[in-house]
Amino acid sequence: MTIESVNPANNKKLQEYTLLTDEQAERKLKQSEQVYKIWRKTGFSERSKLMLKAADVLNTNKEKYALMMTREMGKTLASSRAEVEKCAWVCRYYAENAETFLHDEKIQTDASRSYVSYQPLGVILAVMPWNFPFWQVFRFAAPALMAGNAAVLKHASNVPGSAALIQEVFDEAGFPKGLFTNLWISSKQVEKLIENPIIKAVTLTGSEKAGASVAAKAAQHIKKAVLELGGSDAYIILEDADLDLAAKQCTESRLLNTGQSCIGAKRFIVLDEVYEEFLLKFIEQMLESVTGDPEKEETTMGPMARTDLRDELHEQVMKSVEKGAEIQIGGEIQDLTGAYYPATILTNVKPGMPAYEEELFGPVASVIKVKDEAEAIQVANDSKFGLGSGVFTKDLSRGERIARYELEAGSSFVNQYVKSDPRLPFGGIKTSGFGRELSHHGILEFVNTKTIYIA
Ligand code: NDP
Repeated sequence: MTIESVNPANNKKLQEYTLLTDEQAERKLKQSEQVYKIWRKTGFSERSKLMLKAADVLNTNKEKYALMMTREMGKTLASSRAEVEKCAWVCRYYAENAETFLHDEKIQTDASRSYVSYQPLGVILAVMPWNFPFWQVFRFAAPALMAGNAAVLKHASNVPGSAALIQEVFDEAGFPKGLFTNLWISSKQVEKLIENPIIKAVTLTGSEKAGASVAAKAAQHIKKAVLELGGSDAYIILEDADLDLAAKQCTESRLLNTGQSCIGAKRFIVLDEVYEEFLLKFIEQMLESVTGDPEKEETTMGPMARTDLRDELHEQVMKSVEKGAEIQIGGEIQDLTGAYYPATILTNVKPGMPAYEEELFGPVASVIKVKDEAEAIQVANDSKFGLGSGVFTKDLSRGERIARYELEAGSSFVNQYVKSDPRLPFGGIKTSGFGRELSHHGILEFVNTKTIYIA
């Protein structure tokens, strides 16, 4: 079986890749297990040296990696370069901090000595999406390898070239061959991998459907899963917000990666008092985006990653319009070759519409008018998702109170759109998933928290 990568900017085929058979995948797993047995005994200084080298390899080959991402999934070259740099950052971060995070934890008991030792689990399977082809993988792999695990990757089938280059980073950095392994396999083959006793845990970033299926299989085999799924992040714009700042931040967050980010702002809940003014500023900002060839420097928004995803998004928009939503800008598929979709703003968004209930994974903003703060919070939380959230207000203590106590989400930002940072935990509640990535929380997901007791 083969898969094809296609450039969504022109729908032209890039390359064809042959998938591994189950037997070939199994052989790679066995190699991974062998390498793990040696790697788990290495010290942090050796692991750090190689992880810092991985950061160097990323920086050295930045242009090559960026171009592959842009060609495979359509993000602008500037954002692809930034993504490579962020991957180098997360490698350095865990190279420098893993030892501290995993330091033995002494606990006073009746024993002469008792403590917690953090030990690796073994070979971890990562099922990853196409939206940030490098970042999604590195934010899992850097802590997992630093903790002494081995990793195998099943990447999304539209970014096989990126998957191969990620393997190249770890190989070139000098990690033992087989410690990080790219498996070109189909999603149907994932079940078999999870069943395999070599795999000790699984992490998935992607849709709820994929997450539910992978986590169910993992549970059946009593294996841990971390899920980072979708979101429909709500940003509240209060009556005392700096509206210029809010409109700018909301636009950046909504259009980042052509709207294909799990933590992209998707619902904008605006207080009646400032609704008209905010909407005008938001429209103005959204119209400033320059859609086009992602390889051109002047482009700020490339195509979506695939035409089927673009068409699904348009269907969500059309169904919302049928139910009464109003298109302020965009909302039409342009006469362009490629998976392009314009920056779109929907107003009069109400419960029961896809724009209210579902994740819109593209450059479409749902604006909702509310009468006061209480209603804003109620609408923000009226979602099955709980990934990120935001609030805009000049009153920082009010913003902090809403962020800390009111919004149901894995993170709440005040006067700044939600972004991931290696130093801060990342993940969601409700159907946005469970478990955390990044920071010291992330590295503790794939370790055996082992109690040692010496009488
Ligand atoms: P998927 O969730 O289908 O794909 C993500 C990864 O999961 C891919 O590697 C995919 O492989 C794999 N996968 C899919 N189904 C299964 C399964 N049953 N068992 C094992 N692995 C599986 O995302 P799509 O590309 O279809 O995008 C659809 C929607 O998902 C988006 O519109 C968006 O809402 C959401 N999404 C969320 C992301 C996030 O960052 N949270 C990222 C990407 C998508 P393969 O490619 O071979 O199918």
